[in-house]
Amino acid sequence: MKGPQARIERVDVAAFTIPTATPESDGTLEWRATTLVVVEPSAGGMRGLGYTYADTATAVLVRDKLVPLVRGRDALAVTDCWNVMVHEIRNLGRPGIVSMAIAAVDNALWDLKARLLDLPLVRLLGDARAAVPVYGSGGFTSYTSAELAEQLSGWTHAGIARVKMKVGRDPGTDAARVRVAREAIGGAALFVDANGGYTRKQALGLAETFAQLGVTWFEEPVSSDDLAGLRLLRDRAPAGMDVTAGEYGYDTGYFRSMLEAGAVDVLQADATRCAGITGFMRVAALCEAFHLPLSSHCAPALHLHACCAATPVVHLEYFFDHVRIERMLFDGAVQARDGMLEPDRAQPGLGLTLKRSDAAPYAV
Ligand SMILES: [Mg+2]
Repeated sequence: MKGPQARIERVDVAAFTIPTATPESDGTLEWRATTLVVVEPSAGGMRGLGYTYADTATAVLVRDKLVPLVRGRDALAVTDCWNVMVHEIRNLGRPGIVSMAIAAVDNALWDLKARLLDLPLVRLLGDARAAVPVYGSGGFTSYTSAELAEQLSGWTHAGIARVKMKVGRDPGTDAARVRVAREAIGGAALFVDANGGYTRKQALGLAETFAQLGVTWFEEPVSSDDLAGLRLLRDRAPAGMDVTAGEYGYDTGYFRSMLEAGAVDVLQADATRCAGITGFMRVAALCEAFHLPLSSHCAPALHLHACCAATPVVHLEYFFDHVRIERMLFDGAVQARDGMLEPDRAQPGLGLTLKRSDAAPYAV
């Protein structure tokens, strides 16, 4: 057989909890910290790195359930590893932390394989583009108007042509907050994300108001579980406004149901949730079958290579919290330039190295 041969020898797992810069909230959740679960498999003298943003329980599941399954397997056979993990978790239930645990391992195995082949991951997956456009994402409902304006205009001044803010916490004040954002960013594209915070009728009314303020993206106007409600919004929102969802997708069937319901104009997917880059590339194929664009959710450094390889991807979410964490914890987390994120093709794999001493104080 040609090419390197390597068995997965050991798999290290760690979790880090990093406090947010300030208390944060969206339409339906508040948080003060973010947990990152990092998986590092070794094979053939190389060490891969993958991760998910998930609960610490995910790390336990990886260590106790998934590591024994992949240890000893062919490090180049990523699909074989993915299949055995999906098979063996049958009785635990596929969505939620199980899929995030599989994601962390799968992402690490893609990185490891690319390192064994001495290729940047985008080359292994197959380049579709040199770089991917990003949108700045934050605008938390916990921000004051001044903080909101400062963050969003900071991105547009840095050359990022589209930004996203949270809405849905207090429907009565959302129009005023969106107006603050519009005034701060001039003619840049403005996205809003309600995280399912509105009723159908609230969302229908606000879609008209937001459209007058030039909003072109209305994410989760109602719960993502209400596919008929999303479809209603999609059909009745003003022309030029995309209705989007998909961040809670853990398996291919979820995305198929969302697409079959005609629920979205742009599908979102998160490779730290949908069972890794293996799952993400399958979501991309589904988007092609339904003639719809795909946008990645959060975890910019993790999505960069896959987003440069998946044909239907239109942009990558440059999420404030995760940009901050990935810069703190990883060497090689690239920064957006002129609104684009470009993989460092001189580095193998994802191009990321864990900064162990910087990460150590956050270990849990
Ligand atoms: Mg969202």
